Amino acid sequence: MKMKKKKLVVMKFGGSSVADAEKIKTVARKVFAKTKLGHKAVVVVSAPGDMTDDLLEMADKISQNPPDRELDMLLATGEQVSIALLSMAIHELGGNAVSLTGPQAGIFADSSHTKARITQIKPSKIHDELKKGKVVIVAGFQGLNPNQDITTLGRGGSDLTAVALAAALKADECEIYTDVKGVYTTDPRIVPEAQKLDRISYDEMLELAGAGSQVMQARSIEVAKKYGVDIHVRSTFSEDEGTWIVKEVSGMEDVVVSGVAYDKNQAKLSVTDIPDRPGIAAKIFGALAGIQVNVDMIIQSAAQDNTNDISFTVSKADLKKAVPLLESVSKELGGKGLLVDEKIAKVAIVGVGMKSHAGVAAKMFEALAQNKINIEMISTSEIKVSCAVKEEDGQKAVQVLHKAFGLGTKIKSGAK
Ligand code: ADP
Ligand code: ASP
Ligand code: MG
Repeated sequence: MKMKKKKLVVMKFGGSSVADAEKIKTVARKVFAKTKLGHKAVVVVSAPGDMTDDLLEMADKISQNPPDRELDMLLATGEQVSIALLSMAIHELGGNAVSLTGPQAGIFADSSHTKARITQIKPSKIHDELKKGKVVIVAGFQGLNPNQDITTLGRGGSDLTAVALAAALKADECEIYTDVKGVYTTDPRIVPEAQKLDRISYDEMLELAGAGSQVMQARSIEVAKKYGVDIHVRSTFSEDEGTWIVKEVSGMEDVVVSGVAYDKNQAKLSVTDIPDRPGIAAKIFGALAGIQVNVDMIIQSAAQDNTNDISFTVSKADLKKAVPLLESVSKELGGKGLLVDEKIAKVAIVGVGMKSHAGVAAKMFEALAQNKINIEMISTSEIKVSCAVKEEDGQKAVQVLHKAFGLGTKIKSGAK
């Protein structure tokens, strides 16, 4: 008789999958069933439900400017609640499990608190526990920095923990369990006709995630691409096949647009009336880089009277840090000040086929124009076009673009 291969599987469950006791029991049954088939499981979990947001709110009530180290210490507790409860639930089923924090699991990270990068994984303890026949449950979203302090890996960072562990352990599978059946052509909460994709390339997923598709954290896809980790995104609450995120998808060049992303977590900043001479942009963006603030769309207006305006978008979460710094940079440069607009949304279309098809951006702008949606900023990459629009137009823009590019019907190519 042919023996089925026994695999090492990384299974990651997001916050919505461990939001309450019943859901944690469902996850435990799922993990236990996997081990009953003879597979070894390393499970990564997020904080329950909205706990990370709740912790942030709590911190906000105590301090408007909490030390980064203490914020990370607080945020990392959410994941610890989940690992302990899930381990208990597996024991309750008669299984054997052990919960490990990120540091206990050998996950090392750099010192950029709240958005740290994983620098190394030393999985000896994980291997030891697996050898003892245990399910190893690891807290997502956290690592230990060279100072022996906990750093967190950016919002959605449990995806990164899972993919990095799958790479380090050379796991046979990396499953990302969530509250939808896979990666869709757009957020199914905004467009109910959105279609589940059977497969999507790393490059497209990276652009979608970077443009705000919450289903996967962008940095986790960078790591997956670098180490060739195939990811299976699927639902915790069904047995259906989900979406495979892989290197290449057959016929992918034929599909012009694979998905539409939506991001309402960005704000637009404009530094006005600054001198039009070399070094000014470097000064502004250098200052932002110095406090680890990422900038996305950038536009510079045409110079008038030797001055111009530079506008760009940053994550709303970075405003508290970015605004005071930019106010002082603007002052230093003799600018007239800083404008902050939090009421914007970013919509983006993504598809590898854009490389070989002309007129995609024009079609996007036309669809928005026909629906009287004004475009405030534009940025492009080889396989993405993004537009900033008014916040109130954001969801409509997503619906319009999803329709304009015919994404409501199942795409044939790439769906093998
Ligand atoms: P988890 O708690 O499992 O980490 P997230 O809330 O981070 O889950 O991500 C899942 C959510 O991402 C879905 O509920 C869905 O509303 C949203 N989402 C946004 N864009 C997409 C997309 N293109 N495909 C699937 N889900 C998406
Ligand atoms: N709990 C963290 C967050 O809410 C990490 C994660 O869910 O992946 O961002
Ligand atoms: Mg998530």
